[in-house]
Parts: sequence; structure tokens; C-alpha cells
Amino acid sequence: MIYLCPQCRGAINAKRNIILSTRSSKKQIGLTLLHEEIGNYAVALSPTLKITTGDIVDFFCPICHASLNTSKGDNLAKFIRVDETGTESSVIISREYGERCTFTVDDRKKVKTYGESVRKYLDPEWFL
Ligand SMILES: [Zn+2]
Repeated sequence: MIYLCPQCRGAINAKRNIILSTRSSKKQIGLTLLHEEIGNYAVALSPTLKITTGDIVDFFCPICHASLNTSKGDNLAKFIRVDETGTESSVIISREYGERCTFTVDDRKKVKTYGESVRKYLDPEWFL
């Protein structure tokens, strides 16, 4: 499985983690590690990030520092997943810490949803 930054197309995953440069609403900076298995919400944070449930963070590519926040929709971020067959899909995650919410959207705009908080985001027009 490869995860790519949509801007520079650098791979942002290593050792089963997706690594995102992160800035909190209190301007703390560090790295967020998400489990690369979609639907697994284990999260590891740099010790400099003191984030609590409900905080909204900004995500950036750790390679080129482009913002991964979506322009449409509330508090979402987006990157690219490439599966074993080379098929690309978009992965959309919540930027609210503690919210269990992930979508994938494939090249035919088929949406798959994961997590418990997904219902409130269910209009895919927001992030396509
Ligand atoms: Zn990048």
C-alpha cells in the first residue's frame, strides 16, 4: 500500500503509518502518525503536540509542506492511496482529533465510508 501527497506525489507512509505534518489550533507543530489500515484509528503524536479530543488540526505533507486540508467541507483533509493493483483512490479524513471518520473515493467516484462519525459528512459533493 502506498499513500501519496496529492501535490508532490511523494510517499507519506512508512512502517504501516501514514505520517502527516500537523499544526494544532494553538499553533503547536509536530507529526501525526495514522495507521495505514483504513478504519484503524490508532494515532501517535509527536510529544510537542498536546491535542485533546475535539481539537481541529491542520495537516500538511511532510515532504513538500503543501496543505492537505480540503477547500470544501468542514475540517477534512485528503490524500491519495495506491493499492496493490496500482489503482488510485482519494482518502478523506476528519481533522477533528478523536473523530472516527474516513472516506475513500475511487476513480469512478464510488464512495466508501469508515468510522462512527461519518454520517454527518455523507454528502460527497463537499470534497470532490
Ligand atoms: Zn507533498
